[in-house]
Amino acid sequence: MKPYKNKINRIRSFALSLIFIGVVIMYLGIFFRNNEIIMLIFMVLGLLAIIGSTVVYAWIGTLSTRAVQIVCPNCGKQTKMLGRVDMCGHCREPLTLDPSLEGKEFDEAYNRPARKKEKSANK
Ligand SMILES: [Zn+2]
Repeated sequence: MKPYKNKINRIRSFALSLIFIGVVIMYLGIFFRNNEIIMLIFMVLGLLAIIGSTVVYAWIGTLSTRAVQIVCPNCGKQTKMLGRVDMCGHCREPLTLDPSLEGKEFDEAYNRPARKKEKSANK
């Protein structure tokens, strides 16, 4: 089993880890308080990571408005999905909006822009 996750949840945990990384980097800077330049570099890097996570959170907000809210057929809970295939955020049931992919093995490759491939397949 590949560790697929619901996309929005995955991005959210990425943003959360960025905050932690930023705090850790800034904390490490304290150990270099004898050297102001190194401390400053650590502080700026930490701040950048925290700003980055804010940006990612804003991005999640944009993605959420585009995400399709559906009820998971497996656990009956509401979840948001992105792209053609995604995972339920609660039970990791693979979900698809594309009927032609139904019953097929879950593959994140379906989310890639596959226009070219589709065209040649329709010949
Ligand atoms: Zn579910």
